[in-house]
Amino acid sequence: MTRELPWSGSHQTNGTGGSRYGSVQFTFDFKDLVKGRKVYWVEAQTGYKPPACRFLISDQEVKHLPVQLYDAAREDGPLRYVDGVWYWNHNLTGEFLLEASLLTSECRKVDFIRHHAQFCAIGGCSDQGKEGDGAAGRVIAYILSRKTDVIDAPLVVTAPKKVLSSAVERGLSRICMALGAISGKLNGPLNSNTSVDAALRAAMLQYAEGERNAAVETVKLIGSDDIFRKRLGSMVEAHFGVKSEVMAS
Ligand SMILES: [Zn+2]
Repeated sequence: MTRELPWSGSHQTNGTGGSRYGSVQFTFDFKDLVKGRKVYWVEAQTGYKPPACRFLISDQEVKHLPVQLYDAAREDGPLRYVDGVWYWNHNLTGEFLLEASLLTSECRKVDFIRHHAQFCAIGGCSDQGKEGDGAAGRVIAYILSRKTDVIDAPLVVTAPKKVLSSAVERGLSRICMALGAISGKLNGPLNSNTSVDAALRAAMLQYAEGERNAAVETVKLIGSDDIFRKRLGSMVEAHFGVKSEVMAS
């Protein structure tokens, strides 16, 4: 049974229990990763359930390696290439080693997903079992405070009309909640756009770096929840070129 790559439908990378690689998921198109490179069969790891087939994707000289060139258009293996489409037999685990940099600027989609409750690839982190809202908040806060545009394209939906992806909207909701701008308690001395923008940007950078308590203290300098939301909404529109529905409501 084969399924087109990249895997569509499920956003979980490790079964239904969630991902063991954390809550930020970058989706690449398999054909982008193999373009200009060759695929090599490495080995089968039968100790895994389901067993894993290991491949190397490289444009380097591999004569010194115990690998075999794998022609996906002809081989009778779990990875197939037919009429311009890549397929994978999803009854098996696939492990692909890419001998190149995996550039986030080439990813097609960004999602925030559930971290597995027990399994963690780095042996244990504070996100186990979490749904990914905290990760969404921190990533979006980083993008807005640092004005980095490297993953803007996969964070914006362009058809049928241009809107922010649910990943961004989810991050914005989380930022408002995490920074204490949802209960009408903000009553600080800052009210001008310039000063509120500076405080907001500083607070989001603190939050993105994991200093949530310090970020909440910075946000307390802002005059009201209303101006916090208004300036955050305007920052989002300036950055992505599209309005946030969450910030407008
Ligand atoms: Zn973890």
